[in-house]
Amino acid sequence: MLNISRRDFVVSTGLAAALGLSARLAVSPAFAQKTPDPAKPFVTYKVGSAEVTAIYDGIWEKAHDPAFISNASVDDVKAAMVKAGLPADFVSIPFTVAVVKTGGKTILCDSGTGGQVQPTAGKLITNMKAAGMDPAKIDTILISHFHPDHIFGLMEKDTNKAVYPNAEIIVSDVEYKFWTDPAVIDRLPEARKGLARRIQAVFPTWKNIRQVEGEPEVAPGIRFVNAPGHTPGHRAFHLASGAGQLMISNDTAYQPALVVANPGWRGQYDQDGATAEASRRRLLDRVIADKMMICGYHFPFPGAGMISKDGAGFALNLIKA
Ligand SMILES: [Zn+2]
Repeated sequence: MLNISRRDFVVSTGLAAALGLSARLAVSPAFAQKTPDPAKPFVTYKVGSAEVTAIYDGIWEKAHDPAFISNASVDDVKAAMVKAGLPADFVSIPFTVAVVKTGGKTILCDSGTGGQVQPTAGKLITNMKAAGMDPAKIDTILISHFHPDHIFGLMEKDTNKAVYPNAEIIVSDVEYKFWTDPAVIDRLPEARKGLARRIQAVFPTWKNIRQVEGEPEVAPGIRFVNAPGHTPGHRAFHLASGAGQLMISNDTAYQPALVVANPGWRGQYDQDGATAEASRRRLLDRVIADKMMICGYHFPFPGAGMISKDGAGFALNLIKA
């Protein structure tokens, strides 16, 4: 998922100045977050002997846009939000990062927004510390794909300085090659070109990125799972510990009120809609067949639960925060 609303901020501030208004007064309606942050922004649960902590980074209250889901209307989207118990006047897209402690390692699953995607997100580091974790002690960072909300937390704003220089960052070779191919910039839509340029300026200079092929074990009990479509090299992560299993969906199934309930809906951030839908259905079917837990980066906090069949779609039953 991606949106940068900072431009709106600049325009609004400029407009406010031109009109002689207080920028705070003019800008605040666009920034007013309607969804309260969770009272406790971290929740720990067990999967076998592994300990998983869901850490809240923030939320994007996305304005409705007819282009967001190509085969559903804004009214359909609003109805789906209401059915899930969420407000209808925007699409709730929370950002929650899973940290897994297993086999003596501390593993971060994606890196949060780094406060560079939405003004209402960027709380990962603060909340990690509140959970008693030291960001400098993260051993491994698994990256599902290279959209901004999943990788900008790796790099400082403006300087691109590495936030986790001592961690090993593991990525799919397909994803890495796609975004670092100089020719990709011409092929990408305008809104994505800046992202590819930033990736190409930063990642090749870092020595702590490891590319892996296919579905290897990338940390004790954690395997990459091929789940392309959202991006060409998108990966889910599968954690197994004792009798416990957790599918870390990442963006295979992103906003569950929309694409878990209606797996055939085609979102504009799925770079290949048909492939993304096939990956999503395969992943959700596997989660049900193997009776495993699932967690999602954009699921309502704390973002973990069980999936069941529900008519033509699926239902998500979350654990309590
Ligand atoms: Zn995302």
